[in-house]
Amino acid sequence: MGRQFFVGGNFKMNGNIKTIKDIVNNINAAKLDPNTEVVIAPPSLYLLLAREHLRKGLEVAAQNVFDKPNGAFTGEISVGQLVESGITWTILGHSERRVILQEDDQFVASKTKAAIDGGLGVILCCGESLEQREANKTIEVVTTQLKAVADKVKDWSKIVVAYEPIWAIGTGKVATTEQAQEVHAAIREWLKKEVSEEAAEKTRILYGGSVTEKNSGELAKQPDIDGFLVGGASLKPAFVDIINSNQ
Ligand code: PEP
Repeated sequence: MGRQFFVGGNFKMNGNIKTIKDIVNNINAAKLDPNTEVVIAPPSLYLLLAREHLRKGLEVAAQNVFDKPNGAFTGEISVGQLVESGITWTILGHSERRVILQEDDQFVASKTKAAIDGGLGVILCCGESLEQREANKTIEVVTTQLKAVADKVKDWSKIVVAYEPIWAIGTGKVATTEQAQEVHAAIREWLKKEVSEEAAEKTRILYGGSVTEKNSGELAKQPDIDGFLVGGASLKPAFVDIINSNQ
């Protein structure tokens, strides 16, 4: 069976009550490809608002979780709190958190384990900087990030990998279809060797980095690109066209 196409919208720290309602209403009113799984990730303050308004069959993701169930962790949200609130996914390991908040591979892996054990799906981000790409270290960087998770999590059935080259995020510089396909194929090969043949076959690998409705169609045709994690363009009406780009 083929892998179901997956499109996630990462709103980052954008939006307010009105604009998030507008985005959700726009998605609700659209004719969406029924074969594509759609997940939106608003800022945590608006998770419940999005869940309440988003139509059934579409899911809501947090942009982060903590790896402890409760306690004195000011500013954090637990997996249990999200699950109780009808939130079914979380993004983890986004490069903005790895770089700005200095989250390391071990912490991302620990949060991934907590999320999976607690019943959330995880959109697990990985990706290299421009400097690392120019030093031919892309595959090494990405597989090291993933290995930290594989050491802690054996069941990858609820993990969706998002390959997001840092140099392409929010820059307008999208990876070429060949660049993206090459890394996606290498990730799949790595999954086969380090996790299992089943994980390699079934794990969705998304591309993220300046995806728009103009480039999504070509990217979607690549054999190892199973969808997108979309930042800036997920705030715009054309997000619907990206969702439908696999048709
Ligand atoms: C992201 O933040 O996950 C992302 C891919 O951003 P953008 O689409 O804006 O490059």
